[in-house]
Amino acid sequence: MRQEFLPFARPSISEEDVAAVSEVLRSGWITTGARCAGLEAAFVDRLGTTTAVATSSATGAMHLALLALDIGPGDEVVTPSMTWISTINMIVRLGATPVFVDVDRDTLMAGPAEIEAAVTGRTRAIIPVDYAGAAAELPAIRALAAKRGIAVIEDAAHAVGTRRRCGEEVGSTGTAIFSLHPIKNITSGEGGVLVTDDAEFGDRVRRLRFHGLGVDAWERGQQGRSPQAEVLEPGFKYNLPDMNAALGHSQFNRLDDFIDRRRDLAFRYRDRLAGTPGVLPLADAAETDRHAWHLFIVRVDPETAGIDRGGFMEALKARNIGTGIHFRAAHGQRWFVDHPDRWRGVDLADTEWNSERICSLPLFPAMRDEDVDEVARAIREIVPAAGGVPA
Ligand SMILES: *Cc1c(COP(=O)(O)O)cnc(C)c1O
Repeated sequence: MRQEFLPFARPSISEEDVAAVSEVLRSGWITTGARCAGLEAAFVDRLGTTTAVATSSATGAMHLALLALDIGPGDEVVTPSMTWISTINMIVRLGATPVFVDVDRDTLMAGPAEIEAAVTGRTRAIIPVDYAGAAAELPAIRALAAKRGIAVIEDAAHAVGTRRRCGEEVGSTGTAIFSLHPIKNITSGEGGVLVTDDAEFGDRVRRLRFHGLGVDAWERGQQGRSPQAEVLEPGFKYNLPDMNAALGHSQFNRLDDFIDRRRDLAFRYRDRLAGTPGVLPLADAAETDRHAWHLFIVRVDPETAGIDRGGFMEALKARNIGTGIHFRAAHGQRWFVDHPDRWRGVDLADTEWNSERICSLPLFPAMRDEDVDEVARAIREIVPAAGGVPA
């Protein structure tokens, strides 16, 4: 058995990351300023988009995007129930109705057909999710939305660096939201980035990010906020401090190395777990050219594995191996069960099937190949249908 606990995620913090943050701490300016602007410029440069707005979380970025679309009571937002609850919370808190669509059983992503079937005259936005770092079918989803004048906000929290089949990186076109939470592929401690190719929309998000003031928080010449700044509309306070932005930028510079390492580990898992009964990895999504491998998810099917997910996770924990659940379906959570009038959903069979079975295995760049081998061996010991035979 492993001596040391293997968490399911761990950020890779280098000495350069530490130095970048230390420099900010010593500089005399630690909240939002030049470092935040630098991080935003790096996203714009890499993606070739128009605007990047860094925020204190991707949840905050999603809230701002929905606000900038003026979404409120009477409006519907189509999104999978198989997503992080933050998106759904923001929709509900704005008084709008989340309309849940089912996901593909083996990619966990909602396709254009399911989305189109859920659209009504009240639909104002669609929020597809690039699940686990694969690419959702954005070109087709955008086309059906554009025909009806519906906005698309791509939830790319898992997908910094993901590339689509057409060769474009996620976030190059349209509006997308990335998360820089510590379990995500790159981190700023906490943080998020909204990118958009719609300059006017980007300006409104930027304004709403900081109290609704007509100029940004920090002006180079001023070494601070312009004292003349005026409120153009009531806003929020979702700015990203420079301490965090410096870390995020330093991490962004290493994104490709991180993804390469994650991919090697993911392929090793696929190989080592192949043929383990009832332990089912996700399938490849056709729209994905480069997968960012944010998560390595398996579905533990009690019927074929001979053990349920709870038992599987407990047994791994007893062997010093951490796991996670990404995610429990939103509509099955207490508040949503108690408030069936606040959401809609049609035929969520594959969502529910997965919600009971998904489990994320350890995956982070500093993992060793042998760690993957150990996890796979432990799984074969735990799963009765694998016969307890080590891989
Ligand atoms: C992590 C995550 C978010 C929210 O990110 P935060 O930065 O933690 O607010 C949104 N959507 C998905 C799918 C996520 O995994």
